[in-house]
Amino acid sequence: MGFIKEYTVQTKTEGAYNITKKISEAIAESGVDDGIALVFCPHTTASITITENTDEHVTQDMLLGLKKSLPDREEYTHAEGNSFAHIKSSVLGCSLVLPVAGGWPMLGPWQNIFFLEFDGPRERRFQVKVIEC
Ligand code: ZN
Repeated sequence: MGFIKEYTVQTKTEGAYNITKKISEAIAESGVDDGIALVFCPHTTASITITENTDEHVTQDMLLGLKKSLPDREEYTHAEGNSFAHIKSSVLGCSLVLPVAGGWPMLGPWQNIFFLEFDGPRERRFQVKVIEC
């Protein structure tokens, strides 16, 4: 049981897309006051994460830091040539669980939720499932 809503994101080659408003909207639409929200992306070269939104340089630096820390390598053998993107996706993960109270996600004052693209451009999807508990 519970409520589920799917969204799409049109991405560029690489990027961070703020999806906080969509998640708040899904929670409101679910009618659940207290429970949990699961945010999930069904992809292997993208991630869902929480970070600061006040300064957009934070997400730019995050993408740069990931690129420097987990660069493409000629030793990789995956024929598609996007192992760097698969690795980033696995390291950051493709889901988040958020507590919901009073019909809102219980985020800290600096926290926003981002969809991260590592191998675009593509039309991506993510789902928000909200469960009362
Ligand atoms: Zn691949």
